[in-house]
Amino acid sequence: MSVFDKVSSLQHLLQDANTTIPDSITYGEIFNSLQHLSQTDPESLSSKLNLLEKLWASWYIFINNDILATGLLFFLTHEFMYFGRCLPWFIIDQIPYFNRWKLQPTKIPSNKEQWECFKAVLKSHLLVEALPIWLFHPLCSTLNISIDVPFPAWQTMLAQISFFFFCEDMWHYWFHRLFHWGWFYKNIHKVHHKYAAPFGFAAEYAHPAEVMALGIGTVGFPVLYAFLATKYSSLPTLHLFTITIWICLRLLQAVDSHSGYDFPWSLNKFVPFWAGAEHHDLHHHYFIGNYASSFRWFDYCLGTESGPAHKDKREREQRLRAERKTQ
Ligand SMILES: [Zn+2]
Ligand SMILES: [Zn+2]
Repeated sequence: MSVFDKVSSLQHLLQDANTTIPDSITYGEIFNSLQHLSQTDPESLSSKLNLLEKLWASWYIFINNDILATGLLFFLTHEFMYFGRCLPWFIIDQIPYFNRWKLQPTKIPSNKEQWECFKAVLKSHLLVEALPIWLFHPLCSTLNISIDVPFPAWQTMLAQISFFFFCEDMWHYWFHRLFHWGWFYKNIHKVHHKYAAPFGFAAEYAHPAEVMALGIGTVGFPVLYAFLATKYSSLPTLHLFTITIWICLRLLQAVDSHSGYDFPWSLNKFVPFWAGAEHHDLHHHYFIGNYASSFRWFDYCLGTESGPAHKDKREREQRLRAERKTQ
């Protein structure tokens, strides 16, 4: 399909059943037509779709322009997931009961501080991230990233998302470490470190250059994977729904790691290599160490764990090494 084709590539779902699509049809009417088809025609493709796949297909048929549909989907997913996840943290900050699980309990962000941060992040979303989001569908078409239904098997999606998590964490570790180096810190990363005790909204509060550099770790690996899948047929192709789920999970990870709260039921209590807020809060508190985003293994293996206990351990080891050299 041409990148500039204005017709949704999913319209065949309705057209195959000789359903005429009036110009003024609503999203709900399209979804109901697909539901009706799946109940009345067991041969139709619609009958083989689950609820989520029907919602997805209805969106592309409704917008009737795949570039616009993907752009809008990504923009809205980003805004709803990011601010939607920040909101519960903002509410928790207002309730003193939760203070017992705050990692830096004496530093509750003020509403004014959160409001200023919210406005800055929203502005950055509109200015910095809007254009790449709109250009994503043409890239998807070039790399055979599918928007079709049904979706791939969940095992395929799980394997691909796990790969993206691992690669993003590695990318984040090295770029974040670089951003703590002299010129890069002073001119770029210092913006993100405005808050020594972070809160949800602060996750994407950063210099535009940092947003772009770290954003590549999130979007670049799906693009690289899709490119490799066009070269090696043994690799399962990538679906846009898989990328959407990956971006949602990555946003949840980023906001939660800045929440400032570590609960007994936080994920890092059950998955010991998961970084969580406890890991990233120490980074904001001490300005050094804990550079990775999702996992603890890079900081552990490369000796860059943050906090006084790890600092003491590193200094002890350094002293021992120096003593051994002089003996
Ligand atoms: Zn940092
Ligand atoms: Zn941070």
